[in-house]
Amino acid sequence: MNKKIDIIVVGTGASGLFYALNMPEEKQILMITKTSVDASDSYLAQGGICVLKNEDDYDSFFEDTLKAGHYENDKASVDVMIRNSPEIIGDLMSFGVEFEKKNGKLAYTKEGAHSKARILYHEDLTGKEITSKLLAQVKAKKNIAILEEMTMVDLICEANVCYGVVACDKKGCINLFEADYVVLASGGLGGLFDSSTNFSHLTGDALAIALKRKIALENISYIQIHPTTLYSQKPGRRFLISESVRGEGAVLYNRKMERFVDELLPRDLLTRAIREQMEKDASDFVWLSMKAMGSENIKNRFPNIYRHCLEEGYDVTKEFIPVTPAQHYFMGGIKVNLDSKTSMDHLYAVGEISCNRVHGANRLASNSLLESLVFAKRAATDMMKRYETIAKNIEQEKYSIDMDDFKDLEKLKTDYKESILAEIERSKVVELFNHAKA
Ligand SMILES: Cc1cc2nc3c(=O)[nH]c(=O)nc-3n(C[C@H](O)[C@H](O)[C@H](O)COP(=O)(O)OP(=O)(O)OC[C@H]3O[C@@H](n4cnc5c(N)ncnc54)[C@H](O)[C@@H]3O)c2cc1C
Repeated sequence: MNKKIDIIVVGTGASGLFYALNMPEEKQILMITKTSVDASDSYLAQGGICVLKNEDDYDSFFEDTLKAGHYENDKASVDVMIRNSPEIIGDLMSFGVEFEKKNGKLAYTKEGAHSKARILYHEDLTGKEITSKLLAQVKAKKNIAILEEMTMVDLICEANVCYGVVACDKKGCINLFEADYVVLASGGLGGLFDSSTNFSHLTGDALAIALKRKIALENISYIQIHPTTLYSQKPGRRFLISESVRGEGAVLYNRKMERFVDELLPRDLLTRAIREQMEKDASDFVWLSMKAMGSENIKNRFPNIYRHCLEEGYDVTKEFIPVTPAQHYFMGGIKVNLDSKTSMDHLYAVGEISCNRVHGANRLASNSLLESLVFAKRAATDMMKRYETIAKNIEQEKYSIDMDDFKDLEKLKTDYKESILAEIERSKVVELFNHAKA
């Protein structure tokens, strides 16, 4: 299939959907997604989404984000994210997203490394609430089409200009989609790790393609490990025990059933403390107790966690659960400016695959959905300001695409994975060198 569309969006998570909803209806948009439309990490978000409650909270929200990020954050990005948060929450509510309320007013929760309660939530299913409502809005739009089981395997590009996407369908057929603009919204890279909270099909494909096409990357060794996922010997995705559980009173114990750490440390520091404790205990996990929160409160506030743990054989209202760190989030990615523009013309990147350094070296809890939405909207605004129609004819020769590259897709997959892991290692060495010099 060879097609010309105005814009192609790769990924149907929160960032891709919100970008598409912020584009004018005269633009024909095709969204492609690797598996089913709802198999995105955006659906999995439990804890919530941060918001600037009022002007008085600006300084502490800013400082909490920077402190968690080890002050490696880009301050302009952090400012844009925080300043735009009330507008984004307003947009979400206008799309029908419901957040928890108390006495008719929005309720806020707290997570690790937040000095104040500033996180909006919907039970422990905030991501599903947001993303399913965005998807319903997208499905109602005549100008937006979605193709499932359509995997981007390359970009069509020449002389640092992007002209579209090469994608493979479930039968293994290669499709060329030509477009004026491409938006990469393809999420993280947890699928490259044995133990991750992410969907396994999120393998950072866009990073490998960026490396191949010489698109600038940033901080690609900055990978966040979440301190508390439910320990399991089964293969597959790790189930997250949200930070808001600890924010609302859950505590950690070592093998001797002694508390050993401040449960609300930033994620990287808590992960380190848990790993050290696991080593001392010669154990693959530590214990977490939610019991002090009370049975009814647990069932109302964290119904999804309660249900899942029960299915795994643990009643969190009565029992301790074993928890262990696992890969969770990617702070690095394709380098973008404040409007989500990459180093290649006619190419934007939004959400977890992009890096504007808003999270620095370590993301503050519940800043990710917010960042995805704020900068996806900015991508739409910027694109419309500079919109240029460039790709008019499908002429394969014009772009020097070598179809032989896609003959053995399994090999391509392995090559892409290896190239990302090698680049992460290379980047770690550069980082060490730079730190040693400083
Ligand atoms: C368990 C869990 C809990 C979380 N909790 C929170 C939270 O409480 N608050 C918060 O702010 N953040 C949270 N996060 C992080 C947050 O959910 C994600 O960072 C964010 O949703 C990323 O959105 P996205 O649109 O960039 O990517 P995703 O939602 O992951 O979507 C990526 C999309 O790209 C598609 N894709 C990938 N590769 C290709 C390809 N080659 N071709 C075509 N399509 C492709 C995928 O199929 C998918 O549709 C959590 C993450 C996890 C895993």
